[in-house]
Amino acid sequence: MPADLILTNARVYTLDPARPWARAVACGGGRVLAVGDEASISALAAPATRRIDCGGRLLLPGLTDAHVHFLQYATRRRQVSLFGLTDPAAVRERIAAAVAAVAPGEWIVGWGWDSNRWDMPPTAALLDDLTPHNPVALARMDMHTWWANSVAMRIAGVTADTPDPIESHIARYADGQPTGLFSEWNAIALIERHVPQPDEATLAGWLRETIAEAHRLGITGIHDQRVEHEGAQSLRLFQELRRAGELDLRVHCNVAADHLAEAARLGLCPGFGDDNLWLGHMKAFADGAMGSRTAHMLAAYEGDPHNTGIVVTPPDELWRLIVAAADSGFPLSVHAIGDRAVREVLDVMCEWTTTQGATHKLPMPQRIEHVQLIHADDLGRLADHGLVASVQPVHLHSDWRTADRVWGERARTTYAFRSLLDRGTVLAFGSDAPVAPLNPMLGIHAAVTRQDTAGEPAGGWYAAERLTVAEAIEGFTRAPAYLSGKAGRLGAVAPGYYADLVVLSQDLFAIAPATIPDTTAWLTVFDGRVVYAAEESNTAESPPLPSTV
Ligand SMILES: [Zn+2]
Repeated sequence: MPADLILTNARVYTLDPARPWARAVACGGGRVLAVGDEASISALAAPATRRIDCGGRLLLPGLTDAHVHFLQYATRRRQVSLFGLTDPAAVRERIAAAVAAVAPGEWIVGWGWDSNRWDMPPTAALLDDLTPHNPVALARMDMHTWWANSVAMRIAGVTADTPDPIESHIARYADGQPTGLFSEWNAIALIERHVPQPDEATLAGWLRETIAEAHRLGITGIHDQRVEHEGAQSLRLFQELRRAGELDLRVHCNVAADHLAEAARLGLCPGFGDDNLWLGHMKAFADGAMGSRTAHMLAAYEGDPHNTGIVVTPPDELWRLIVAAADSGFPLSVHAIGDRAVREVLDVMCEWTTTQGATHKLPMPQRIEHVQLIHADDLGRLADHGLVASVQPVHLHSDWRTADRVWGERARTTYAFRSLLDRGTVLAFGSDAPVAPLNPMLGIHAAVTRQDTAGEPAGGWYAAERLTVAEAIEGFTRAPAYLSGKAGRLGAVAPGYYADLVVLSQDLFAIAPATIPDTTAWLTVFDGRVVYAAEESNTAESPPLPSTV
């Protein structure tokens, strides 16, 4: 096959052990045809071959975000952002601006607040004087708690008489009146079901914009982690884009565990679909989140002696789920943040692997999402049982102070990437957007430096857990491909692999680690086509260059 695209003068880090480094890549029919030196690759050029000189830049396999809520991110990026606001006054300012931009009665929906560094808790009263005629619903950074104003609670019919819905919590004053905070899905749903939803055409447009943003960040694949109450919308929209030829992204689509019975009845299995869009794992939740102090802990939170967090799916229920899912061919993807949740999920997964793993040939490994705090005694258990840790290093940027405060000394094994990797654990990296920014360079930076983007703490937070640049890149390339059961065709730059590639603006191996976040994609190739080019001369409209060397 003649090459239709040749990339030359690149520092190609292939992630192919047979040839870790190369200078040039030839692509044809959506696949990588050859990887090698300038001369051997240039020899594959035909007259119509498009050639791009990469100017000596670093070329990697296209990056895959192994944990993202893509539709939710596409929606959230259209809402009021409260990220990084360090006091309630700044939130009020932003809400006041939002009120000025909408009509009375219209909902104001926002996300990204983090009250851990505020001097007062968020309450409806804090918003009510600004928003007498508009309902307000603001999701916390981790999305496990929503903050509503009094108009929103009135619309939702929430009063002192409203009981806490199962497995969730409504914050209250001493007299039982709700303060405005709703934790975990069933409580959140009291408010959320009244928030008007955009129609599907609008959402499809937002998805297209977000795919373009992913390309600008060097992302060519995602593992879409749907939330329990999200329903069928994201899979339906991805299929619509797929049919229209607009899904320039490889999408591993997890299925919420409450749909297991339906999926089993239909005979759906993981991998169903194609290499553009496929079904992935059955997604379940073991606990809540750290910032909301709902992560399930072996011992109480620091300074909160009666709180050990909450259980979303208890171990016996999780056991029934893992057995039923595997009987239908599905591995699980289980959210576990606190050390007790991680241990209980490990107990279930290790027990299943030991007793039933050999008789069930699952097409993808079992996975645990976040593994945020793992007890030192449990560090070797993932590798021992072939379980994958799907982790989001970027959380370290915003969370390390909170982890110190709520977990104290125990935080030593928070985001314990080095400890896990050295014991042989496969670490797949993701962003958890919209909980954190989508940019994978922030994740690489956090894993390599163990510092936030301001360079704090000096020397790195539990710096012994740092990874190398190469290990961090692996988390966004080979590991997610392995997790999808597509290790032979995704996640490396090698002959026969899909031509999903990214050329970066800076060489991650050569620059100071503190400057990793400044790195952007210079060129992104999906399925052999240029889908993003930072410079005019590389745009898809430019004519093919002469094929001579
Ligand atoms: Zn998530």
